[in-house]
Amino acid sequence: MALDADQITVTFAARGLRLTRQRRAVLDAVAEASASVSPVQVFDAAREHCPELGLTTVYRTLELLSEIGALRRVHGPDHCEAFVPASAAHGHTVVCSRCGQVVEFTDCDMQAVVDAAVRQTGYRITEHFLQLSGECPACGERAGRPQRPAGDGA
Ligand SMILES: [Zn+2]
Ligand SMILES: [Zn+2]
Repeated sequence: MALDADQITVTFAARGLRLTRQRRAVLDAVAEASASVSPVQVFDAAREHCPELGLTTVYRTLELLSEIGALRRVHGPDHCEAFVPASAAHGHTVVCSRCGQVVEFTDCDMQAVVDAAVRQTGYRITEHFLQLSGECPACGERAGRPQRPAGDGA
């Protein structure tokens, strides 16, 4: 997962926005975290580099970065809203319920579920959100449950 500041600068510019020092501090705080981060965690981490940063700016920036697809919203361990970098336009997060580490999962085949929902409700389904949780390989190993290596190791 990578948050490309140059790409984000370009995307922001197309919307007439600038990647200011404050926004950059928010971006870096999310990029440097190994797990999902809540707005308050971002605020605490980013203020070390950018003491003038306000919590409102953190919220607005996280919102903005989600809008342009750079971040994905997840339910944090305490079911509060948290954020992770998003590398694909459509993807889902897999969260370790022990250590909180988050990886992205893009190979979702929801067609059967969507078809069943259409049959049952008659709705035209346009979007879905999915979050999976479990135990990451490292935590599994620590607990003495070696797991199959992940397919592409990304
Ligand atoms: Zn873990
Ligand atoms: Zn999906």
